[in-house]
Amino acid sequence: MQFESTLKYAEYLDNQDPLYSLKNKFYFPSSNPIYFCGHSLGLQPKQTYDYVKDELNAWEELGVEGHLNGKSPWLDYHSYLAENMSKIVGANTSEVVVMNSLTTNLHLLMISFFKPSKHKFKILIDTPSFPSDKYAVQSQLKLHGLNPLEDLIEISTFQDNKCISNKDMLNQIETNLDNVAMMLISGVNYYTGQFYDLKSISNLAKKYNCIIGLDLAHAAGNVQLELSNWDIDFAAWCGYKYLNGGPGAPSGVFVNEKYHSSDLNRLEGWWGHDKETRFSPPNLFNPIKSAEAWQLSNPPILSMAALRSSIELFDSVGMDTLRKRSKLLTSYMENMIYSINNSNINIITPSESGDRGSQLSLAIHSNEKNIELFLKNKNIICDFRKPNVIRVAPCAFYNSYKDIYNFVQVLKEL
Ligand SMILES: *Cc1c(COP(=O)(O)O)cnc(C)c1O
Repeated sequence: MQFESTLKYAEYLDNQDPLYSLKNKFYFPSSNPIYFCGHSLGLQPKQTYDYVKDELNAWEELGVEGHLNGKSPWLDYHSYLAENMSKIVGANTSEVVVMNSLTTNLHLLMISFFKPSKHKFKILIDTPSFPSDKYAVQSQLKLHGLNPLEDLIEISTFQDNKCISNKDMLNQIETNLDNVAMMLISGVNYYTGQFYDLKSISNLAKKYNCIIGLDLAHAAGNVQLELSNWDIDFAAWCGYKYLNGGPGAPSGVFVNEKYHSSDLNRLEGWWGHDKETRFSPPNLFNPIKSAEAWQLSNPPILSMAALRSSIELFDSVGMDTLRKRSKLLTSYMENMIYSINNSNINIITPSESGDRGSQLSLAIHSNEKNIELFLKNKNIICDFRKPNVIRVAPCAFYNSYKDIYNFVQVLKEL
């Protein structure tokens, strides 16, 4: 990439960027910050308001009849999201359903997929791990009478303040797979921003007859995924980070097609039951032959409407296009940070663009006592992790080269 560290060059890049105007489809917070927190809560698409209002209107005008009538009858509302969501993660439509929230879904999936036996009973995860994921796998072990400390294997992908290579990660997984029944791996690590080699990890899981589940909280809507081709067993992700679905937005779930007619056990409820007989129920649960079988309850329409609006934007632009732009923005940010030559700032995210998404994690060794407050006072919104790591993610939808330029000028002062 040709590169100059001037403001003029940042403006030039914005001017010749055909996707610059995508930002006009989003609301920015009223303080008009530099917003690099799309990895935590994506900004609100302007069209979200109308999607939610449509359902408030339908409720107002139709009451209970909104389930069957109106523009988007609620009875099947979840199905309006499945196709666009499945394209975002590279799956068949029948393999994806939107429901609940992420940790809840990880539990529902592990109830089905973690089936410890006498010789295979451990769970393997990558670290640094998000606290919720760790509690989730520990409690799954406890549910089976296993030991949450001994029977959980943690592969550390961040050693001596550096990400290990994807190849080293594979080696480490392979040497630790004895007795492992299931691995739960992040797609993109929330702390370091590393995008793992999921295809090779999945192959390894197959070779050792181990179930592979993915937590794609930081990967969905950020990087290109091919869950079907990679033969992943199950996955879940949240709707409010890169997917811009709004605070607490519903979560996406992937269940590989090969399990749709299997005899896997699951926790069951009426929304997973065969639609023909949902309202004249037989004695026994009869699962829908798709990921929908894992649904328990009828969906929260207002929050589904918000997420629906944002994933339609993904479909209109396309993941390929977004990923291309995100790679350019992130490389530009990396180059700008190197250009200021500030030895207090260390990028811990891998430098190979295929090994990361749009997030850069920066370890900052500054005399500044409160880095978080310092950045806030400069009107920069990003994420701070103790003791000294900030995570910044230029979002392909709404960030510009000039945002990055201005941010890096502030970094100079640290
Ligand atoms: C954001 C995130 C979560 C959040 O879980 P919720 O159930 O949606 O509150 C869980 N795990 C990871 C890895 C995350 O990044």
